[in-house]
Amino acid sequence: MSVSQDHKPPTEEVNWEDFRDHLTTVDKEGHRRWLFPKMPQGRWYWRRIYVSWLLLAIMFLGPFIRINGNPLLLFNIVERRFSILGRIFWPQDTVIFAVAMLLFITSIIIFTTAFGRLWCGWTCPQTVLMEMLFRKIEYAIEGDASEQRALRSAPWTRKKIAKKFLKHAIFLGFSFLIGNTLLSYIIGTDQLFQIVADDPRKHIAGLSFMVLFTLVFYALFARFREQACTFICPYGRFQSTMLDENTMVVAYDPMRGEQRGHLRQGETLEHRRSAEVGDCIDCGLCVAVCPTGIDIRNGTQMECINCTACIDACDSIMDRIKRPRGLVRYGSLNSIERGEHFKFTPRMGGYLGVLGALAALLALLIFTRSDVETTFLRAPGALFQTTESGRIENLYILKVINKTSRDIPVQLKLENLAGDLRVMGVSELVVPKEKLAQTSVLVELDASVLREGKAKLQIGVYSEGKRLEVVHTAFIGPRLNPSTL
Ligand code: SF4
Ligand code: SF4
Repeated sequence: MSVSQDHKPPTEEVNWEDFRDHLTTVDKEGHRRWLFPKMPQGRWYWRRIYVSWLLLAIMFLGPFIRINGNPLLLFNIVERRFSILGRIFWPQDTVIFAVAMLLFITSIIIFTTAFGRLWCGWTCPQTVLMEMLFRKIEYAIEGDASEQRALRSAPWTRKKIAKKFLKHAIFLGFSFLIGNTLLSYIIGTDQLFQIVADDPRKHIAGLSFMVLFTLVFYALFARFREQACTFICPYGRFQSTMLDENTMVVAYDPMRGEQRGHLRQGETLEHRRSAEVGDCIDCGLCVAVCPTGIDIRNGTQMECINCTACIDACDSIMDRIKRPRGLVRYGSLNSIERGEHFKFTPRMGGYLGVLGALAALLALLIFTRSDVETTFLRAPGALFQTTESGRIENLYILKVINKTSRDIPVQLKLENLAGDLRVMGVSELVVPKEKLAQTSVLVELDASVLREGKAKLQIGVYSEGKRLEVVHTAFIGPRLNPSTL
């Protein structure tokens, strides 16, 4: 039986004992230590591949998917127009956004408390794109870790230049694709195609963003890589406050693995089993495959993105030395130290309660949201007028936002007082889909309905006989002597 034990990365730069005092990606002089993670193989890797295919398909096809004519997802910050699952939202829907944001944060907290960084390893776009797209391209062109290392230190021959050129050209191509995908989530595919097809001089800003996004993604995936998770991502930093002894993480089982020790030359598995040693043969494969360069045997660390590569690596070793799989596995501290199964803790219960309440509130806000949003305010600087018949007139500015994907004819009605209400300039007000309509409205009342020169108006906003909402405003007139009324 021979098991390779030469997977350990070069140790001259890193002392694996003082791992908490430094980053594995930085050497003693503070220079970047480039990682060459070995290609993972195994059942968890394949599961992640299948999930990544689905996620990449959703990500790249998302901007083209329409629900009721609206994009699946659109975050048009420039025009302040947002579409989520085909429903159009406006900046005026701030309460819905605030509740959705709270719901999102709470879901992250409860999810992290229960399942650790499952998001990072399986669904985060940074991990999916880095490990399932760019890393695979790198393996395909430059080979596995040892070949990549050899290529890096090799002289600049024609073969090396060709490989590097090809790799970076493909990286740049995919960065362009990803940058444009992001842009189409912001401005929509129609505008994106217009930028591509039109005279470039008309779209300097759009083209600048295309170039900027391409370069940012290229720098991220070609150079910055795992440092985005370690230095930039806030989630990686604050997740340590959410983990507890029942959180499921990728973990090494020291009860089984220690005392670790190399499988000595000529040592039989039977002999090893009878000796006082653990299952870990200190082969270093779990470290060699790690895309963040850490040693999972040191315990849960901030850099660990729970990618499962070390589980597969160790399982392959356990298969070869005929020991049960799972020396590195998904498990909580309690499950590993005490053999306890997954436990639903009061903390999770509390988070779940908040999560349920927020989800119910969000559903209520979305389903009771009016199709239109109306503001009805007195025209700035306009004073009241007295008509020839002695009635009082006030001029107002009406703004109606149509949040739907169909044109809406709108009628206004005074709800609480007798009087006249005229929309100026149009015989029928129709608010185009997903647009804001603005016009002036004249309201005329009898002076007798005013109390101390004022009245409160309730105006119903109707469409096809259905009242959509009621808005309130003030009506101003002269202060009349009650004896003259
Ligand atoms: S935990 Fe597994 S993969 Fe890692 S060094 Fe030990 S035996 Fe090798
Ligand atoms: S320690 Fe394991 S799970 Fe964590 S990042 Fe490294 S390989 Fe992935």
